[in-house]
Amino acid sequence: MKNGAPNLLELTDLWDESQLGLLEQFGDLPMTVYGIPNKLGDVEGLKKRFPWVTFGMHGFECTPYECLTWTEEVARERLEIGLSLGYAPLLLPPGWVYDIETAEACKELGIVLRHSFMSKVFVEGMRAFPGPDGYRVQMKCMPLITSLLRNNQRDWIGNHPGFKDFLRGDGGVTPLSCAVEVEA
Ligand SMILES: [Zn+2]
Repeated sequence: MKNGAPNLLELTDLWDESQLGLLEQFGDLPMTVYGIPNKLGDVEGLKKRFPWVTFGMHGFECTPYECLTWTEEVARERLEIGLSLGYAPLLLPPGWVYDIETAEACKELGIVLRHSFMSKVFVEGMRAFPGPDGYRVQMKCMPLITSLLRNNQRDWIGNHPGFKDFLRGDGGVTPLSCAVEVEA
């Protein structure tokens, strides 16, 4: 815990059940995992197996710049499929990029848009995390995000014993609970 804000652990790019061993390493640590709906499919079984995990959507197929290719109608259609497959109302656009059409669809469907400085497109009334005022100002938590793909620079999973201790007791927040509603 830093500055009194709880740590928020997020893992991206879950598309295959063979990756679940990595999730098991964390024990019952509350976390948010972004799955790729068109590859991973239904998450109802996973929610029963990992009830402490919030499963968000990482695009629909996680192709590069996927959300930039979505019209509002396509975005709505893809996101509705994700919701029907059991995903939480939470979208992390692949490559962190999206435009106003995806933002409008999220607003209509009540989906929290997990964005970064890479794309900051907001419509009034939508819910976003961390939101237009940015990371530092109204951060209710300290996000730690990495991919379930191992990489040498950010292999938090490889170092999970220490990482787990670091997070112990600080979990329980999610991008859903920390999201802000965008004002005019
Ligand atoms: Zn990805």
